Amino acid sequence: MTKILVIGGGFAGCIASHMLTDKGYDVTLIEKGPVLGGGCRTLVYGGHPYTIGPRHFLTKKEEVFEFLNQHIPMRRYPDGHEFLTYIEKDQSFWHFPIHRDEVEEMPDREKILEEFKDCPGPEGAKNLEEYWLMSVGPTLYGKFVESYSKKMWQIDSNTEITDFGFTPKGVAIKTGPKGAWTEAISGYPKAMNGYDDYFDISTRNTKVHLNTPIEEYDVENRRVKVAGEWHTYDIIISTIFPEVLMNNAFGPLRWMGRDFFKIVLPVKKVFPENVYFLYYANQEPFTRIVEYKNFYHYDSPTTLLGLEIPSFNNKYYPFPMKADQDRAQQYFDALPKDVYSIGRAGTYRYIDVGNIIEQALEMFRSF
Ligand SMILES: Cc1cc2nc3c(=O)[nH]c(=O)nc-3n(C[C@H](O)[C@H](O)[C@H](O)COP(=O)(O)OP(=O)(O)OC[C@H]3O[C@@H](n4cnc5c(N)ncnc54)[C@H](O)[C@@H]3O)c2cc1C
Repeated sequence: MTKILVIGGGFAGCIASHMLTDKGYDVTLIEKGPVLGGGCRTLVYGGHPYTIGPRHFLTKKEEVFEFLNQHIPMRRYPDGHEFLTYIEKDQSFWHFPIHRDEVEEMPDREKILEEFKDCPGPEGAKNLEEYWLMSVGPTLYGKFVESYSKKMWQIDSNTEITDFGFTPKGVAIKTGPKGAWTEAISGYPKAMNGYDDYFDISTRNTKVHLNTPIEEYDVENRRVKVAGEWHTYDIIISTIFPEVLMNNAFGPLRWMGRDFFKIVLPVKKVFPENVYFLYYANQEPFTRIVEYKNFYHYDSPTTLLGLEIPSFNNKYYPFPMKADQDRAQQYFDALPKDVYSIGRAGTYRYIDVGNIIEQALEMFRSF
């Protein structure tokens, strides 16, 4: 029987194991940590369930939502969801993506409307700064994007960002109904342990090794060394950092991380209804705050907020610069036959849970 090794037990590793064991393959999963689920694992603080940063489920594909829903019942947010950005200059929260109607309420609306007349649209923009300047003009760019993006990537200029397909959620300025973001299906697992049951369901026919460090990688021969012994497989599916898998063959890849802080407040609820993320686009060190009750829906006299500060202490976000993407591509081009690299770290792409499920459905259905 074909022997497959999956490296990493986050969402990508679990769904790969799920689909491949369903097809009858002999699958082994090696996870270096003590639990499955990676960043989507639900933890508990002060009696409140949470994940490191939000892990709000979003997809444009019904099939992707249904795939998860058939295994773990999902709560769907039919009214969409709202993101707000705090703009210190206006001392106000405004919706993000920026809404065209809300511009009319801004103190500097006349200047912004004047600038709109000179905006050619984003076509042909070579970097993130150009994209925004060409889309909305300097005032809105300055308020919503300039400091936020420099903070997010710890860079001096947004002209450095040359791969910006990930932002800004498909539109620079939104029209139509104000507030809710209804372009994607939005939801979260109903269970108080979030996605966790899926990690068990998906790996029930897999040989799972937790707390298992891999000492050496030899992808040419599809083998890894664990506890001093080499183990050889027919196929390797890696979800980990490509530079680790391939012994830094093309040099280091850059990653941005997050320091994460949990804050319990002595009130039942803080955020307005339907508001899922609060972004901070000014000089504060943090980028985003979430309230976990919005995802987990439970009653309690206190509430938990999660606050993220960009840092280099861990590796969560691939850098959106062409030079970094090109170096990652060198790794992918050099992958030997029957070695695949998937997931967020594994593709060096800023992709979400919905994208990871979509990727797995496409890739493993025909395996
Ligand atoms: C702060 C933050 C907030 C996010 N919010 C959202 C959101 O709101 N909505 C959304 O859809 N997506 C969100 N995402 C993205 C989403 O969570 C990821 O796309 C998804 O979880 C990635 O799954 P993965 O399996 O590729 O990686 P991970 O979840 O990172 O899993 C990788 C696994 O591999 C293991 N591993 C690493 N190295 C090794 C090794 N050498 N050997 C063995 N095991 C190893 C790790 O321990 C981990 O378990 C967020 C991401 C971050 C960082």
